[in-house]
Amino acid sequence: MEPVVAAQPAIGNVVCDLDGVVYLLGKPVPGAGGALTELDEAGYAVTFVTNNSTRSPVESAVRIAELTGYPAQEHQVVGSAEAAVTLLGGDTGPVFVMGGAGIRQAMAVAGVAETEDPGAAVAVIVGLDTALSYDRLRDAVLAIRGGARFIATNTDATYPTPDGLWPGAGAMVAAIQVASGIEPEVAGKPHQAIRSLIREHLRPGPVWVVGDRPETDLAMAKIEGWTSVLVLTGVVGHADEVADEHRPDLILRSLADLPEALQS
Ligand SMILES: [Mg+2]
Repeated sequence: MEPVVAAQPAIGNVVCDLDGVVYLLGKPVPGAGGALTELDEAGYAVTFVTNNSTRSPVESAVRIAELTGYPAQEHQVVGSAEAAVTLLGGDTGPVFVMGGAGIRQAMAVAGVAETEDPGAAVAVIVGLDTALSYDRLRDAVLAIRGGARFIATNTDATYPTPDGLWPGAGAMVAAIQVASGIEPEVAGKPHQAIRSLIREHLRPGPVWVVGDRPETDLAMAKIEGWTSVLVLTGVVGHADEVADEHRPDLILRSLADLPEALQS
């Protein structure tokens, strides 16, 4: 008989988005830290899944801890930059990057080289680029027109902040798509690459996906058969803004309300 491993049984998994759910830019969502701590103590396995590719998992964990007080760990964070690198399927590049440090760090971990030369790139990885310039946009398009793969970390149209919705990675991906005439391969929510990484993090038991963006967070939950929870602290302010195809299983005002909702 196989020995029974005495692992701490999880009563379920909470797959939690970051921007618009846990924090907005540099401000925590009120009550988020307390709710995460409560869920953790109740025995839920908490995994943070972000389409934001500007930070590495360890940087996201530090940000969660600093902003909310919940002591998130690097191993709890799954990001679209890591998912984008898995789409390379072991190819070590070189890759032209239009995006932030999170992509470069994920490439470094996987041993993927970077190039500034559009003629040398075997792939272009595009994410949210807060230093966007015409020169990089041009080089990304030249690389893709020259035959490099076009990989997008995600296509979120916007980025929720306390000041409103800023342009997201999808706005940059769209610019390249228009100029190159090529469709991107997309890694982040709701697509397969990031779902595979999430499944590696799950413990046995039910899965609740908590997110603010219907076409990524809620769509992913639906594809996987997980329970979707929409919070109204990010890109959607009212439940009636959600299209029927993305209708969530549960709508909460904020992440702060999740522990109580899961008890009932
Ligand atoms: Mg979000």
